[in-house]
Amino acid sequence: MAFDLDMIKAVYARFPERINAARKVVNKPLTLTEKILYSHLSAGETSISYERGGSYVDFQPDRVAMQDATAQMALLQFMQAGREKVAVPSTVHCDHLIQAEVGAASDLEKAKDKNKEVYDFLSSVSNKYGLGFWKPGAGIIHQVILENYAFPGGMMIGTDSHTPNAGGLGMIAIGVGGADACDVMAGLPWELKFPKLIGVKLTGKLSGWTAAKDVILKVAGILTVKGGTGCIVEYFGEGAKSISATGKGTICNMGAEIGATTSIFGYDDKAEAYLRGTDRADIADMANAIKEHLTGDDEVYANPEQYFDQVIEINLSELEPHINGPFTPDLAWPISKFAEAVKENGWPTKLEVGLIGSCTNSSYEDISRAASLAQQAVDKKLVAKSEFTITPGSEQVRYTVERDGFLSVFDQMGGVVLANACGPCIGQWARHGAEKKEKNSIITSFNRNFAKRADGNPNTHSFVASPEVVTAMAIAGDLTFNPLTDTLKNEAGELVKLDEPTGLEMPTKGFAVEDAGYQAPAEDSSQVEVVVDPNSDRLQLLEPFTAWEGTDLHGLKLLIKAKGKCTTDHISMAGPWLRFRGHLDNISNNMLIGAVNYFNDETNKVKNQLTGEYGEVPAVQRQYKQHNIGSVVVGDENYGEGSSREHAAMEPRFLGVRAILVKSFARIHETNLKKQGMLALTFANPADYDLIQEDDAIDIVGLTTFAPGRPLTVVLNHADGSRHEILVNHTYNEGQIAWFKAGSALNIVKEQAAR
Ligand code: SF4
Repeated sequence: MAFDLDMIKAVYARFPERINAARKVVNKPLTLTEKILYSHLSAGETSISYERGGSYVDFQPDRVAMQDATAQMALLQFMQAGREKVAVPSTVHCDHLIQAEVGAASDLEKAKDKNKEVYDFLSSVSNKYGLGFWKPGAGIIHQVILENYAFPGGMMIGTDSHTPNAGGLGMIAIGVGGADACDVMAGLPWELKFPKLIGVKLTGKLSGWTAAKDVILKVAGILTVKGGTGCIVEYFGEGAKSISATGKGTICNMGAEIGATTSIFGYDDKAEAYLRGTDRADIADMANAIKEHLTGDDEVYANPEQYFDQVIEINLSELEPHINGPFTPDLAWPISKFAEAVKENGWPTKLEVGLIGSCTNSSYEDISRAASLAQQAVDKKLVAKSEFTITPGSEQVRYTVERDGFLSVFDQMGGVVLANACGPCIGQWARHGAEKKEKNSIITSFNRNFAKRADGNPNTHSFVASPEVVTAMAIAGDLTFNPLTDTLKNEAGELVKLDEPTGLEMPTKGFAVEDAGYQAPAEDSSQVEVVVDPNSDRLQLLEPFTAWEGTDLHGLKLLIKAKGKCTTDHISMAGPWLRFRGHLDNISNNMLIGAVNYFNDETNKVKNQLTGEYGEVPAVQRQYKQHNIGSVVVGDENYGEGSSREHAAMEPRFLGVRAILVKSFARIHETNLKKQGMLALTFANPADYDLIQEDDAIDIVGLTTFAPGRPLTVVLNHADGSRHEILVNHTYNEGQIAWFKAGSALNIVKEQAAR
């Protein structure tokens, strides 16, 4: 932790100077988001007049956090960087691979056995390169980060979409792909399109059944799953100051569901209390010293419509508890309207399971408020009608709520405590009977409820609500129950009503834990071996990509001319392939299998120019590779849109594709291709796409004078002996041309590290 303190000191030391400099240039009051972004510009950034939603800007994040599924390829790549240690404090969290089946202890043991090779690799690579390692059972990445590492005014990237959770403590925290994490750990800057800003003004105060979760359920209903795209959502106002830090974390966490880049709250008394309550008084003192920089300017919050691109106002005193769903998190129902919606839409009224916890809602406050209802069930002789599970967010929360008696209350109510891990939230739920695909309803305090997400059953109607509402509904076992107004019949046949939930933001006796599950990296790691079983089919050490041969490229084969949409999912499919995300050779067998071949309108069927026969894309490409023949992939508009998946750039590079030539690129994928040493080219005249023929041999000319802004020439040698010469554009700058020449960006980093 000392390492962190030094880092935070350095970040805070530059805040006043950077913010004052920015103020002089932009000459207007600043939002909190702008203050943090301006304070984290990378050394190479010179201007601070950015077009919101337009300019691409280099930042220098303070931290990197990775979950166990995405950390594998990020760290395998990092090992190529030639660094002894990570450049910024970084952590790995083993949370995604634990399947929920019976209960915490046995599920955890099973996961340790099943994922041993992955855990051994992550533990040893963390130990070697200076990363903190949170073992399986230690908790879910975002809760652990909030408790230990998030700090007001910081900037973090994380390889998980709910990284924004740390915005609850005033940190700009953004979910990214593994390649970005690798870059920042290797000491490179990180690029982000300067976001637009949405301001959410909160007035009034939460009370009774309404919880922090209801704020984001309401916001999701207003903005929908796309409304936050390209935006950072900044919450402010008296209402914001009244919400606990962990409640703010819940709101920011689920902000991922509206597509927001991230969400953030300013530093306030609640944040200070949480820092002190989680043993970080030193950070609270430091934050207090620069308090005015850790919130937006007064003028901004007084006239938000002048400074934000969009403003939403919510009065917390009037906010009803909400239930969102099914199948999408933005279908928002105030609880007073929900029973009617259930009946009108014919959703199954019988509630099968209520699940509380997850990274979104597993704070001490959440558990204590839910437990207050469980206690009422016991006291009022109510038997829970639905199954009920609890997923604590961290071992610290689990240990503390067990000490304070909440888990035994859930136990009396018939609840099952699952491992401190993602479990049912990410489909890691061996739900008995799910394979029958029966129509049924569940309700969770998680964040996502898309079809099949929890149990793989497309007919599971999954609803999202606060832990309090989930608990009440599980007691009732009926989706049409409104705990605010309705009564339930108890075992004695009496009609009883649940009182409003009560709880504590933090434990009066303080948090406690016996073994938090943390492994600090070795001080001297020179003797530490990174453990990768050479026979593993899930993990494979990477070899550096070879450098450019120094000549133009001749005789490349056309691998595929992709037609229409070609997202990163078409290029590198997810689903069962994710098992191989740490094994580049094995996962490359999914390369472009989802892309539609222009010449036959089929997927995964392309002509092998060596044999004249049609074969699967990866198999054909492997044959070219065997014969040392490079190839070209041709694509349509916005090639590579979708999630930033490094595999989509690494697989073609690994299998010997030399260039991707398209009408236009999704920017992030274009950058990922450049990082892997590929040629990412666009038709100067998009109509030239039509000139590409199935049997083309392709030359790329002009590489010996490759320079920024200078187009290259592509020669299409058609099978009938005719040829076309076309101009192709690129967006490589000097540095990126150096990546191409060296074989990859990491090869350059490695060269620099060796100097
Ligand atoms: S609990 Fe769910 S949302 Fe949170 S990190 Fe795990 S899978 Fe993602």
